[in-house]
Amino acid sequence: MFFLLALLQSPLSPQAADVSPARMRETLQELCKQPRVAGSLESHHARDYVDAEFQRVGLVTHPVDYSVYAPRQIGQSLFWRNPLPEDVVISSAPFWLEMDLSEVGFTEDPASLQSQQPPMHGLTASGTAEGPIVFAGFGTEKDFSQLREDLGDELEGSIALIRYGKLYRGLKVANAEAAGCAGVLIYTDPDDDGASRGKVLPEGKWRPETGIQRGSVFNGNGDPLTPGWASTEGAQRISVEEAVGLVGIPSLPISWKNAKEFFEYGERPNAVGKQHALARIQIQQNDAPVTITNVFGVIPGMDGSGEIVLIGAHRDSWGLGAVDNGTGSTALLEIARVFGIAYTKGWKPDRTLVFCSWDGEEWGLMGSTEAVEEKRDGLRKNAVGYINLDVVASGGRFSAFATPGLADPMRVACEKSGLSAPSNLGTPGGGSDHVPFLEWAGVEVAGFGFHGGQGTYHSQLDTPYVVETFLDPDFELHAKAAKLGVHLLLHLSSKETKLHGAQEWMRRAREGAARLLPHKNQSLAWKGFFQALKEATKRTDQNPKPAKGFRFHQAFIADDFGSLLWHTEGYGSLWFPRLTGDSSEAVILETTQALQKVGLPSDAREE
Ligand SMILES: [Zn+2]
Repeated sequence: MFFLLALLQSPLSPQAADVSPARMRETLQELCKQPRVAGSLESHHARDYVDAEFQRVGLVTHPVDYSVYAPRQIGQSLFWRNPLPEDVVISSAPFWLEMDLSEVGFTEDPASLQSQQPPMHGLTASGTAEGPIVFAGFGTEKDFSQLREDLGDELEGSIALIRYGKLYRGLKVANAEAAGCAGVLIYTDPDDDGASRGKVLPEGKWRPETGIQRGSVFNGNGDPLTPGWASTEGAQRISVEEAVGLVGIPSLPISWKNAKEFFEYGERPNAVGKQHALARIQIQQNDAPVTITNVFGVIPGMDGSGEIVLIGAHRDSWGLGAVDNGTGSTALLEIARVFGIAYTKGWKPDRTLVFCSWDGEEWGLMGSTEAVEEKRDGLRKNAVGYINLDVVASGGRFSAFATPGLADPMRVACEKSGLSAPSNLGTPGGGSDHVPFLEWAGVEVAGFGFHGGQGTYHSQLDTPYVVETFLDPDFELHAKAAKLGVHLLLHLSSKETKLHGAQEWMRRAREGAARLLPHKNQSLAWKGFFQALKEATKRTDQNPKPAKGFRFHQAFIADDFGSLLWHTEGYGSLWFPRLTGDSSEAVILETTQALQKVGLPSDAREE
């Protein structure tokens, strides 16, 4: 009798078994009915659908708009010719030949024939660039210094033809610009995700030779015109000239079909160097501000502490975006449904749960960054953790990341899901919406997904066809991801779940610090820094489980800079970023003072 009463009194908590693969299939199809390029009219379909779904399952929704700088590309063309003097060319032949830049869709997959986005790089420069083609490998600094050595002044004013891979595309364009190039073409090599890997679409999952990888080339996060503050209506904005991280030369993503025209015998050369062709890139943009919308769904917590746990996925894409990020958005909605069902039946979390559907991620984490900038103080005080869902079901290989505070919860959730947690749950690099949480608000972050190679990344061919035919026909991987999300969120929703990890943070910080400079001949300031590091380590060893463990990183958040401990660069990351860029005494002292706050009893007093 008592048992029955207890059952009646404590409503059933969210159940991973409620995750439905069939429902997730329908969700993905609905999300992919229209392209979801941030700020576009077509993208409103998914925005309204997510908002309605959150409401339907009992969540309180808050759509939040920001007005951001993300120019629309309204025209692009690419011409080429051989570098013969004009009078030698046979008069009937056109002097410059225009290349066909279109991606070819397939009748097997009608969605791939739907009008989507032109080949474009988000936040590239508009204008015309013309010059000889120079193959620049992956576009690393090393590639360009080799070219400078080989070609000298000839590199100036050339068009760099660069292969995708190894480093973030924005860094490739920035390296080309620094080397004096006039424009950039970035192509997708068949060795990376095309014919060399296996059958191409529509017979297989790899990229056909007309496939194109779009993507941002902005070397920064958030609206470039409101660095450090939210781009709300009426917010102060800097000029495009003052903005940091925007590239100054036009760039265009092209297919292998186009790229091989520039190579002798249609083969990629083994070394960087000048090719026997000239190119002209023309790009027109409309730079009127665009409106992006984050949609939040909330389940209020009942313990009154104000603590919140967030889980999010970006909704925007470069086209129909089935894999990137229809998969993550589908998982987010399914997790929200499972929690919503329990909530409407009377279950309540201790901590408030916030489901975040981000816009503008593809342009440089715009939706999430603006949101963190707007709510930074509250997040620093109350956010226990943020879970990111970006491409969660594209193949059978499971991977996960977690900052030290979320490593244990991630292991618990994996165990409950029957998954073996990766042994190296490391601090993540850049490239998705967890970055502003960690970097600007010092919030512990985690993420996971099931991955496998495929050739539709940022392509018009990233449609439900590729998911349903090749990647996850039964939506099993989708269901696994959603179930893991349910376990992780449920575990974190309880106030009994404390976040530890201060010792692990300190261990990683010491490793990062060891790379900063030789330990001999230190200045007084550096000696003070290493002393503070030692003392902070001792304090965290003595008190490894502070009451509010999730606040470890807060000591390192500087108002004007973000985290003094960790910073992303492209897809990678740096420890003690400010010290890496500037080791003046004032900067060393700032980081030393942050270390002196780590593990002090004042942190616990706030309990
Ligand atoms: Zn993505």
